[in-house]
This record gives sequence, structure tokens and C-alpha cells, in this order.
Amino acid sequence: MGYSAYSYVVFGVKTSIESIKKTTKQRSCGHDVQSHMKFCPECGEPNTTEKTVYLLDYSMEKEGLSYFYSDPNNRQEIVIGFQLGFSDQDFSEVSSIKSYMDKEIIQFCKDNNLPFTEKHCKTYVMTYHSY
Ligand SMILES: [Zn+2]
Repeated sequence: MGYSAYSYVVFGVKTSIESIKKTTKQRSCGHDVQSHMKFCPECGEPNTTEKTVYLLDYSMEKEGLSYFYSDPNNRQEIVIGFQLGFSDQDFSEVSSIKSYMDKEIIQFCKDNNLPFTEKHCKTYVMTYHSY
């Protein structure tokens, strides 16, 4: 074990983690509870509980649209986009898929009412440290 750091490049839009969180209500138990009732008469569980879901998957290995923490120690800011590879790679091919990535990112933003356009899509270098 020891200190290690690595960087990789992400293309996308920078935003807060809150913008990909969504709170949904779901039934707490399996009993048939009428919607006006706050608690289940059979087991006493609240009728509905709030659940936070993420609109995107987080995975550094995943191909395709994902989200990435800009600062892994302060998980408030993210980039929604595509991982392009480690920072020592050759990125000369990236321009050929830029319009595809733009399209995917902007479509996701439209679908989820995020106020981003092509001009917000940028390249970010993310550095991760581990001890
Ligand atoms: Zn119940």
C-alpha cells in the first residue's frame, strides 16, 4: 500500500449531485392501503416512504453516459458525461465522437430538465488519490 494518484479525462457538463437525484414516493409494505391513509392499519408502517434515486449510474468502468465526481472527497459536484480514458492517452480521435457525446448528454439534460446545451459540454481532467 502507498499513495497513488491517477487522472482520467471526462467529457461532459459540470453540475451538482442534486441535479441527478430524484425523490420518489413508494409504498412501504405489501398490504392494500387506501391512498388517504397515512399508516397501514395492518402493520403500522407509513403508507408511503420517500426514496432517493439517481437518474444515472455511477461507474468509472462503464461505457456510455455516466456521472463522475469532480472531487471524490466532497461528493457534491459531478460531471455528467463520458469517460474518455486515462490522461496519458492519445485524444486525437475524440473529436470524431464529440457530436455523438454532445447529443447524448444534451438529450439526457432535456429529458431531465437540466439547463445545459452543447456549449456547456467540456473536457475535464479528474484526479483521484488513494492511500
Ligand atoms: Zn402493512
